[in-house]
Amino acid sequence: MPRIVAANQDSITEAAALIAGGELAVLPTETVYGLGANALDGKAVAKIFAAKNRPSFNPLISHVADTHDAAKYVLMDDRARQIADAFWPGPLTLILPKRADSGMNDLVSAGLPTLAIRVPSHKIMQAVIKQAGVPIAAPSANASGEPSATTPKHAAESLGENVPFILAAGMCDVGLESTVLDLSGEDAVILRPGAITAEDLKPYLGTVKIDTGAHEKAEDIKSPGQLLKHYAPAIPVRLNAVDVEEGEALLAFGSTKFMAIKSGGNVSNLPDDALKNLSEDGDLIEAAANLFMMLRDLDSPNHKAIAVMNIPNIGLGVAINDRLHRAANAPP
Ligand code: AMP
Ligand code: MG
Repeated sequence: MPRIVAANQDSITEAAALIAGGELAVLPTETVYGLGANALDGKAVAKIFAAKNRPSFNPLISHVADTHDAAKYVLMDDRARQIADAFWPGPLTLILPKRADSGMNDLVSAGLPTLAIRVPSHKIMQAVIKQAGVPIAAPSANASGEPSATTPKHAAESLGENVPFILAAGMCDVGLESTVLDLSGEDAVILRPGAITAEDLKPYLGTVKIDTGAHEKAEDIKSPGQLLKHYAPAIPVRLNAVDVEEGEALLAFGSTKFMAIKSGGNVSNLPDDALKNLSEDGDLIEAAANLFMMLRDLDSPNHKAIAVMNIPNIGLGVAINDRLHRAANAPP
C-alpha cells in the first residue's frame, strides 16, 4: 500500500518535492482526489498513465494557482477572463488554446492544440501547487475504469503500489469531477457537467450547449463532427515496420541495428528530420513522453509516410499502440 499521510506543513512540502522531482503524488482537491504529476515533465506525465493502467491516452487537466499562472499556458481572451474571474478558484475546467510557448508536454493534452486548465480552491492543493512551482496535471486518483476516488483510502485501494504517496485531507467537498467548459471555439460548450452548471454560466455566456457524447467515450471518437478531436498525422502511418521504404520517415523504438532501408543501407543514413527514436533504451515511459512530439516532428510533406517500429503491447505500450493504431487508420 502507498504511504497515506495527513496533510500538514511537512507532508505538503514532501508532496510538492515529489511533484517537482518528477514523481507522482495523490493530492486532495475540492472535486475528487487527483493523481498529480509535473505537467512540464513528459516522463512524469507518462507515469500517470502507467499508474492508472490506462489503455489509451486522453488529455488531462492541468492545475495552476491562479489566473495569472493559467495565462502562462493558455491564451485567455476577454470571455475566458470573465469566466475565470467569476468561477476560479473552483470546480470549473476551461478548454482553451494552448500557448506556443507553454512548455507543456504534449502528452498532457494528448497532442491537441488546446489545453484543459483549472484553478482549484482546495487550500491543501493550492499550497502544493505553489510549493512545487509547476502546473500539476492530475486526473482522478483511481485505476482506469473505476469510479473517481473521493477519499484517501479509496485512492489507495484503487492505485495500490502504483503510487508512492497520498496526501490525505478527508473527503472531497464536491465529490464530483469538475465541469469541463470548452471555450476554444466561438460557442461555449459544456463537455462534462459538474458542480458549475449551465444555469450558473448563463449570466455570462447566455445559453450554453451541453455535449457530453464526445467527452464521455473519448476513445471511441472517430467522426470529425465530434468535439474531442484526436491528433493524427496528415501523412500515412505504417505500423510494425521491419524496414524503411524509399521516402519514409522512421519512428523507432529501441535499437535500430537491424533496421534497414529497403533500397539499401542502414537507417543511420536517414537524415535527422526523418529519424526519431521514442526511446533508444526501449523505455516505455520515455517513449510515451516523446510520442506526440515525435509524431508531429515527422509529420511533414517531405515524407511519404511514417514507418513505426513494433512497440511491445505491455504496460504503457498498450496506450502507445492504441494511439498509433488510431494514427494509422486515420484518413491521410
Ligand atoms: P480527468 O482529468 O480524468 O478528470 O478528465 C479530464 C477530462 O477533460 C477528460 O475526460 C477530457 O475529455 C477532458 N479534456 C481534457 N483536455 C481536453 C481538451 N483539450 N479538449 C477537450 N476535452 C478535454
Ligand atoms: Mg477519471
